[in-house]
Amino acid sequence: MQISLLDTAMTDHRTLHKELSLDMEEISFAQGTFPLQQDEPLILDAVNVGNRVLDVSIRGSVSVVVPCDRCLKPVRVRIPFESCQRLDLKKNAAQRIQDLDECSYLDGTDLDIDAMVRQEILMNWPLKILCRQDCAGLCSRCGKNLGEGPCDCAKEPKDPRMAAISDIFKQFKEV
Ligand SMILES: [Zn+2]
Ligand SMILES: [Zn+2]
Repeated sequence: MQISLLDTAMTDHRTLHKELSLDMEEISFAQGTFPLQQDEPLILDAVNVGNRVLDVSIRGSVSVVVPCDRCLKPVRVRIPFESCQRLDLKKNAAQRIQDLDECSYLDGTDLDIDAMVRQEILMNWPLKILCRQDCAGLCSRCGKNLGEGPCDCAKEPKDPRMAAISDIFKQFKEV
């Protein structure tokens, strides 16, 4: 989605306020592709602070569905975000690159909302995802979700080497 900032840029102190709906249904990056849902309207505000310089802010929240770190069960995680940037619309693309400006979201006077929101989601991506704080995870032997009850691995006899050692201890006791 592209929003034109041209009118706002033309007049000093002019403001722009918009409520937007995202047309993203998933987000893909190095860790995979995850379904995404918008929780509330995205609010875009732009203020021309003078001389074609705009303060642009975007805020909202999305929910993503990601697997639990321990048991892989899908978990819905809310990601709120808010971003404010000062954009100088006098600069052209080449100048922006030279200045190491972060606003690769600008194409002329059009703002790329999806790219901006995507960046915000990735910056606010949760570091640890658990279906619940005490998630027991999966059994390392059979892969059963231990949150749904114990597996049969626990009932199996102990490691034979350990059994031999405990037998030795028993013998000492008996002496
Ligand atoms: Zn879990
Ligand atoms: Zn098991």
